[in-house]
Amino acid sequence: MFRLQHRFAQLPHTCFHHCQPSSVSAPQLIAFNHELAAQLGADTRDLNDALLADLFSGNALLPGAQVIAQNYCGHQFGQLNPQLGDGRAMLLGEIITPDQRIVDLQLKGAGRTPFSRNGDGRSPLGPVLREYLLSEAMHALGVPTTRALAAVLSGDTVYRDTAQPGAVFTRVASSHIRIGTLQWFALRQEHDTLTLLADFVIERHYPELLEQTEPNGTRYLALLTRIIERQAELIACWMQLGFIHGVMNTDNMTVSGETIDYGPCAFMDEYKASTVYSAIDRRGRYAFQNQPAIGQWNLTRLAEALLPLLHGDQTQAIELAQTALARFQPHYEQAWLTHMRQKCGWFSTQADDGLRIEQLLTILEAGRIDYTLFFRTLARHAAHIDVQASAHDWQPLLALCHPEAERRDTDQVLSIWLHDWARRCAQEEHRATARSAFMLDHNPAYIPRNHRIAEVIQAAEDDHDFAPFHTLLTILQSPYNEQPNYQAYQQPPKAQQRVLRTFCGT
Ligand code: AMP
Ligand code: MG
Repeated sequence: MFRLQHRFAQLPHTCFHHCQPSSVSAPQLIAFNHELAAQLGADTRDLNDALLADLFSGNALLPGAQVIAQNYCGHQFGQLNPQLGDGRAMLLGEIITPDQRIVDLQLKGAGRTPFSRNGDGRSPLGPVLREYLLSEAMHALGVPTTRALAAVLSGDTVYRDTAQPGAVFTRVASSHIRIGTLQWFALRQEHDTLTLLADFVIERHYPELLEQTEPNGTRYLALLTRIIERQAELIACWMQLGFIHGVMNTDNMTVSGETIDYGPCAFMDEYKASTVYSAIDRRGRYAFQNQPAIGQWNLTRLAEALLPLLHGDQTQAIELAQTALARFQPHYEQAWLTHMRQKCGWFSTQADDGLRIEQLLTILEAGRIDYTLFFRTLARHAAHIDVQASAHDWQPLLALCHPEAERRDTDQVLSIWLHDWARRCAQEEHRATARSAFMLDHNPAYIPRNHRIAEVIQAAEDDHDFAPFHTLLTILQSPYNEQPNYQAYQQPPKAQQRVLRTFCGT
């Protein structure tokens, strides 16, 4: 099946616990990502569903698997929780892919581990379907993310607020090492293990540093800087798409720069900078607009954890860490501006682009305009609109203003902005059709909208109907292509369909 290695399990024993999945009563395959399996080196198309369901529920062990739960801690909503760890996730091993990449293979919901505390180690079906759809959608949208390999119904009931069907999710990640993984060893001043772990991260994710740096503080400072850059780039991806992670605790942030732990995350429909969906985020710490600042806060916790590796003298170590952390904001802004220019169809850079984009966001918010639909509509119209365009030409965009928006004159302000946008475009030599095609490649038609996910989960839970799940998955796998049969999936929710709260549900 897969070529597995177990390098993490060779780290000191405080890094993990050995464990075993506990069996489930009636595993039934919901989805299996054969395409991903093939990329990872396994030809699974001829395997029957029953065997796949056994292997990816934990009822049968994959050949060569050595199961462990990883140790970590983390700042949750700003408070340090000194002991977390994989409470319902188990690492089966690290796959060596045909193109010599190394990725982790992990079951989620396969039973209790030594880190489960009071939890049951299980996952309800809803969060499994959600993570499957969200992570595959993010991948197709071009965002670094963990991937979905399999979803299996367990046949058992999981008790949360209500009794729910249980399921097991199989996740593939470039690794599961979190900021909180390094924090755990720093907190206990296990500096030798911290160093081994940092070396592990360098070898796995930043091997170029082995050649570029000497094995001393310089190397770890370079590591910190690279992680800061990757996280800044990741959060810029989220922001340009209107994605809200929802639980940016330090145990939910990878050192690889992949999106991980899809809990109450959601894509915004109407643009509103202060949007929060997560029911547990009562103070809006992880609101849409706060994500870059929270990213920097989390990276500051990482920098603190790495201090002993940066320099023998703490004052100097702090200075070095601060220099690295100062990279975050400019790197983030640069990455964000690059994305937003692409969304606007601007090939060149102009000094006031940032201002123009901020103005647009203010207008979108005032007009309660759907973020994704606005840019997709602009991209479509870019093919036949120029500086001479009249209000009539802009009508499809102006019509996106919400009838109940507080500001009545938003359509006028938007039309002024659109004229300015057209003027800005006209300063470039590109043909309108080329601009439109470029914009269509950077502005998705399809995002995993909350109300669609809710529909899918309800059909699966209430009627054991997985057809809506598979339909949505197929649509989300080609987010930049028009799919004539699925136009309705581009539309924002109607008033009665709106989902205002999302839940971890773990
Ligand atoms: P999360 O909110 O998914 O990031 O999880 C935070 C912590 O709680 C992690 O250490 C998880 O492993 C643990 N956890 C979440 N749900 C469960 C569960 N059902 N059983 C055991 N541990 C859990
Ligand atoms: Mg987590």
